[in-house]
Amino acid sequence: MTKKYSVDEKGFFGQFGGAYVPEILYKCVHDLQAQYLPIIQSKEFQDEYYALLRDYVGRPSPLYYAKRMSEKYNCQLYLKREDLNHTGAHKINNTVGQILMAKKMGKTRIIAETGAGQHGVATATVCALMNMQCEIFMGKTDVERQHTNVERMKMLGATVHPVTTGNMTLSDACSEAIRDWCCHPEDTFYIVGSTMGPHPYPDIVAKMQSVISRELKEQLQEKIGRDYPDYLIACVGGGSNAAGTIYHYIDDERVKIVLAEAGGQGIDTDHTAATIQVGTEGIVHGSRTLVMQTEDGQIQEAFTISAGLDYPGIGPMHADLASKGREQVLAVNDDEAIYAGYELTRMEGIIPAIESAHAIAALKKLKFKPEDVVVLTVSGRGDKDVETYLNNKPLAKEYGNF
Ligand SMILES: *Cc1c(COP(=O)(O)O)cnc(C)c1O
Repeated sequence: MTKKYSVDEKGFFGQFGGAYVPEILYKCVHDLQAQYLPIIQSKEFQDEYYALLRDYVGRPSPLYYAKRMSEKYNCQLYLKREDLNHTGAHKINNTVGQILMAKKMGKTRIIAETGAGQHGVATATVCALMNMQCEIFMGKTDVERQHTNVERMKMLGATVHPVTTGNMTLSDACSEAIRDWCCHPEDTFYIVGSTMGPHPYPDIVAKMQSVISRELKEQLQEKIGRDYPDYLIACVGGGSNAAGTIYHYIDDERVKIVLAEAGGQGIDTDHTAATIQVGTEGIVHGSRTLVMQTEDGQIQEAFTISAGLDYPGIGPMHADLASKGREQVLAVNDDEAIYAGYELTRMEGIIPAIESAHAIAALKKLKFKPEDVVVLTVSGRGDKDVETYLNNKPLAKEYGNF
């Protein structure tokens, strides 16, 4: 099969991507560019990585046939259960891989940005596992909003730095992590949490998450006798669980790809995080991509009920795939996501993360044939979101009676 959508040597996906970094980071980023593929492809890395995914993360994650939801949406719906991973989401797949890379590169200090705190927790977890110093940057607003995750990180031994610049949210935490990296380029490895940042990060994170679609191929073969579905559905913040879900199917045009981004209160309001719908081309956190920005290029704050989708940019890989029409991207609003979260809970006994609920909500917007095989990635579990579901229950009311 031809590889039409792959990243090129300079880190571009079509017109998007690249590595726009300050002079002082040039060497760090260049070292990583030179070393990441040989490390990932080495047998030693592969053995360690897959052993940890199996015994520590709990992979393979199940592929579950959701019978009642299949009947409701007139298709064959399978859920890829990333919510069952250790720490409750797909993010651990990536942090396990990146900390192994950090060790192979002789780094001793780990930094990471986090918004809702999920990537911070996944990073602090692998730092405890590998006995590495861990510094997490988190906007002060998020530190207050996501208190439990802050306590989890501290319990795991990380230092959490509240960031007080800008809106004091995820985007500011990314900028601060990059600043810290500039001050400690020699000993520090930056574990980026999604398919964003300068090349090679979008490619690294996509490769670390690609285990999702690698498993899908085997699981589908076993369950339905062919290794591809008709549809793949995932939610998209920076784009990592979506990248993992589609990775081994990108060039397989038999497979339709539908992603759900966070519409917030609606894409025609100021309260949205639907970057692909409303963003314009620009450079953010080291790569050229679609960004929500003002006319003079100031980054606009993203708004959504879901802390994990609250990012004003989008990974360059998805900017490219969406602009070429390979991915269909739907904006799902807060009320639709809340409804979908309750729906999956009541129909299948699975409380999804509010991020994942955006993907569930996409089902309503699509028209299937009864024989269509639809694989939807449940990126994380909803324990962290119970309060949000309860506080916003009225939003779901107009759709149904829960
Ligand atoms: C962080 C997060 C997301 C969004 O990040 P992506 O990089 O777009 O996958 C989605 N779901 C959950 C559960 C998350 O924690």
